[in-house]
Amino acid sequence: MPDCIFCKIVEGKIPVKKLAETDRALAFPDIDPQAPEHFLVIPKQHLVAMTEVTDWSLVGHLHEVAVGVARERMPNGFRTLINTGPDGVQTVFHVHLHCLGGRPMRWPPG
Ligand code: AMP
Ligand code: ZN
Repeated sequence: MPDCIFCKIVEGKIPVKKLAETDRALAFPDIDPQAPEHFLVIPKQHLVAMTEVTDWSLVGHLHEVAVGVARERMPNGFRTLINTGPDGVQTVFHVHLHCLGGRPMRWPPG
């Protein structure tokens, strides 16, 4: 997708600090962190939103990558989440899993 910022990251057109990479996914720090630790895990395949997913093993894989990174960076725990659509306050339309930590999370989320 030519105008997709996360596809450009996958293609190496926008440089990021890679925290983990597999054949299907890439993890890198969020540019606007909402916690002391905040990174994203994205599929290399362009998928607009969770509502477009058909291969659910991919979503499991995103979590596998996130936990692999978070286990080292956030030994005290972390939160994983995926925003979907307007009510989910999704702003980048290429599926991404957030992983936040480094402080206690608030509940309920806003
Ligand atoms: P969401 O509201 O779930 O769609 O969140 C999109 C996230 O992508 C936000 O937390 C942004 O800070 C993050 N983001 C946008 N552009 C970049 C970028 N170039 N590198 C890293 N994170 C980004
Ligand atoms: Zn994309």
